[in-house]
Amino acid sequence: MYGAIEAGGTKFICGYGSGPSDIQVSTSIPTTTPKETMRRVIEFFEGRKVKATGIACFGPLELSKGRIGKLTPKLEWRGFPIQDAVEQALGCPVSLDTDVNGAALGEHLWGAAQQKDHFVYVTVGTGIGGGAMIHGQLVHGLLHPEIGHMRVRRFAGDSFAGNCPVHGDCLEGLAAGPAIAERWGVAKAEELSANHLAWPMTAHYLGQMAVNLACAYSPELLILGGGIALRPGMIDMIRQSAKQEMNGYAPLPKIVKAKLGSRAGVLGALALAKFRKASGKR
Ligand SMILES: [Zn+2]
Repeated sequence: MYGAIEAGGTKFICGYGSGPSDIQVSTSIPTTTPKETMRRVIEFFEGRKVKATGIACFGPLELSKGRIGKLTPKLEWRGFPIQDAVEQALGCPVSLDTDVNGAALGEHLWGAAQQKDHFVYVTVGTGIGGGAMIHGQLVHGLLHPEIGHMRVRRFAGDSFAGNCPVHGDCLEGLAAGPAIAERWGVAKAEELSANHLAWPMTAHYLGQMAVNLACAYSPELLILGGGIALRPGMIDMIRQSAKQEMNGYAPLPKIVKAKLGSRAGVLGALALAKFRKASGKR
């Protein structure tokens, strides 16, 4: 059996099992301070023997040091050595990677990307984040891809400044749920009606993302998850926008829905444990 820790910005979920069919999960543990949250995480694993554990973590991460990066908006967690902390508490090897790289590996093992070695997974919800697999390996490079912060061209007439605290109008600053809500003056993007201009505008931005990813990685698949991407009709609009933007130059990936749904985080962590493909410190 393996351990899984979905370390999210608002909640942690722990899991114990070998795959989607037998995983047992904890109740949701609020992300407060490392001390309090980790105490409850360790408690979940008491009496459960695990061969290895994976952590699919919010970022940015300092993967080579196994810790949470200094730029995370979660002040209490800046620099927290989460990989060592779990390794010491559970006495087993621990893999650390981003939540989205975990989810990408989970889709590869059990979801939409089975038998696919070249694909990109992107979730579009309260933020935009993605992970890429090339030749069966998760892409890490200097750090890890930050697909949500790529730059895109403006939709005609969109004068919203963007709400990314670092870049303003990067992709996430224009097309994630909170950006859409702020642009149109509503509490939640979901309140906007199905025929609101917000949706073709969002599809325009996500279509450009698909083109950028196709130009950079030539993936076979683009797997989309998250509440915004999975709205009815959105994937079709993204396909149309991507086709228009690419203008026939290079093949576009097949754009499909993520299959792991709300379990992407915890199953991603389990996948990291089982296949040790994460890039945290060794
Ligand atoms: Zn940004």
